[in-house]
Amino acid sequence: MNARRPSLVGIPYDEGSSFLRGAARAPALIREALRSPASNTWSEGGVDTGAPGALEDAGDLALPATPAEARVAIEAGIRALLRGGRSPIALGGDHSVTYPILRGVAPEYPGLTVLHFDAHPDLYDEFQGDRFSHACPFSRVMEEGLAGRLVQVGVRTVNAHQRAQAERFGAEVLDMRAWASGARPDLRGGPLYVSVDVDALDPAFAPGVSHREPGGLSVRELLSVLQAPSGPIVGADVVEFNPDQDPLGLTAPVCAKLVKELAGRMLAPETPAGRSP
Ligand code: MN
Ligand code: MN
Repeated sequence: MNARRPSLVGIPYDEGSSFLRGAARAPALIREALRSPASNTWSEGGVDTGAPGALEDAGDLALPATPAEARVAIEAGIRALLRGGRSPIALGGDHSVTYPILRGVAPEYPGLTVLHFDAHPDLYDEFQGDRFSHACPFSRVMEEGLAGRLVQVGVRTVNAHQRAQAERFGAEVLDMRAWASGARPDLRGGPLYVSVDVDALDPAFAPGVSHREPGGLSVRELLSVLQAPSGPIVGADVVEFNPDQDPLGLTAPVCAKLVKELAGRMLAPETPAGRSP
C-alpha cells in the first residue's frame, strides 16, 4: 500500500497547448464539481474521499511567467507535496505538466509504471518547434528514464513518427482497435502513476477538450481499468479539460468522477489480490 495519502494540487498551466487555450482554467471547475451536492464523496469502491484527512487540497501552484521557470516550479511543488507525506492528484492544465510532475515523483519510485490514457501518444520529439509541447511529454519522460514502463490506453491518432518513437522507447500502446478487440493492460506489480488526458474519452462523454477525437473510451471503460487489480497508485493527473469547449458543463463532472475514483484507490488498503475493497 502507498503510505502517502492523496492531495489535490492545481496546475493552471496552458503554455504547452498547441491548438486552443483554456485548460489553465480547469482546476477550479474540477474542484467545484467534486464538491457539488449533485453527488457525494464516496468512491464506487466504498471509500469516503470526503472523510477528514482523506483527500486534502494543496491549492494551485503559483507558476512563474516563463515555461522553463514554470516547469521548475511544478517539479518543486510536487517534491514538496511528497516530502509532506502526500501523493499528488494534479489537476491540469495541459498535458505538458506531466513531465515536470514525473520528474518530482519518479525518484521516489524506481521502476515506476506510467499508465497513460489519451487519444494521442504525446510522443513527438518536438512539435511546432517546442520540445516541451503537450504533444511531447512522454518523449521527455522516457528519455530521462522516469518510467520503467509506459502503457498507453485509448490512443487513436498514431502517425509514422510517433510509431517510431513508441518503438524506440518500448512504449506499450494499447490503441482503440486493440481495446475494441478485447485487449486490456496488465498493471499488477509495482507502483503506478496514472495520467489521464480527458480526450482519451469519446467526445460524446467528455466534449470539453481542445482536441476532440471521435472513437474513444466511455467513462465506464476508463473506470474499469482504474478499478482492476494493479499495483498501488502513487500519483495521478487529470489534464486537458478545456472549459471553453464545455458549454453544457458535461466534462467537469467527468473529471471530478475520475479524481474521486483515483483518490478512492489511493486511500484504500489493498487486499492480497491487489484489488481495493
Ligand atoms: Mn490528447
Ligand atoms: Mn495528451
